[in-house]
Amino acid sequence: MIARSKVLEILEDMVALGVRAVTFGGGGEPTVHPDHCELFASARLRGLQVALVTNGERLRGRTQDVVSENMQWIRVSVDAATKETYARIRAVKADRFDAVLRNVSDIVSRRLRPSVGLSFIVTRDNYKEISAFATLARDIGVDNVRFAPIHNDEPDYYGPLKAEISDSLAQARQVTAVRVYDQFASILAELHRTGSERRTCYYQHFSGQICADLGVYTCCLTAHSRHGFIGSISDSRLVDFWHSASKKDRVSAFDARKCGYCRYHSQNDYIHGAVTKQLDDVFV
Ligand code: SF4
Repeated sequence: MIARSKVLEILEDMVALGVRAVTFGGGGEPTVHPDHCELFASARLRGLQVALVTNGERLRGRTQDVVSENMQWIRVSVDAATKETYARIRAVKADRFDAVLRNVSDIVSRRLRPSVGLSFIVTRDNYKEISAFATLARDIGVDNVRFAPIHNDEPDYYGPLKAEISDSLAQARQVTAVRVYDQFASILAELHRTGSERRTCYYQHFSGQICADLGVYTCCLTAHSRHGFIGSISDSRLVDFWHSASKKDRVSAFDARKCGYCRYHSQNDYIHGAVTKQLDDVFV
């Protein structure tokens, strides 16, 4: 967990570096940080656009006030349309499902609030609840729902289930009054594109990841890996690290072809086209 004073310092340096937005999220749950309310509000106060990826369990009381008043958008990971599945895949008590949905519903009913989305990572344990999840999201009144595949090393994880998943996603897309982001097939295709064909990753310059160990990584997919590690800010300020020779050396030496999988090939292809002027800059 990053100390309150260090987070405030990082936020200050982000502003100095021209960063425009920050997402609180990652492997842990941001709302368990004892100072999360102050830190969320502080980011906004500094002029950053702020977003939150959360499990939604603590979105109540003061946290709910601060999130409602300061966040641009939030995404609540739910991954189930029934309390039974929620309890099974998270190994928690079933009543936590209702509590999370109640928290989300409370935020949705506020006059001043962020854009609220629910997310559903499709797995072999929950795929039968895809279309019910879109209906549930609509009934709660959230703005959007997002479906995405799981990242793992199993090459054909979904196997013969793909056809049924595809049908269920088609049904989910028919649900009106909630925006359905079906990113299942597109992200899966990106993940199956083995590694990058280029040594250069442009995307990393837009997507730095600071983890709780104060390591700075190229992107969310390489977080906590030796391969994606570009330095630590435990003994230095972010702004100094960012302009340091060591960071420059690490970024220059980084070989994107060694990334195990990537879901940002399209972004890299696009930026590559732009910087090498292969894109037509007249027609977009
Ligand atoms: S996983 Fe993709 S976006 Fe992340 S550093 Fe590697 S090539 Fe870049």
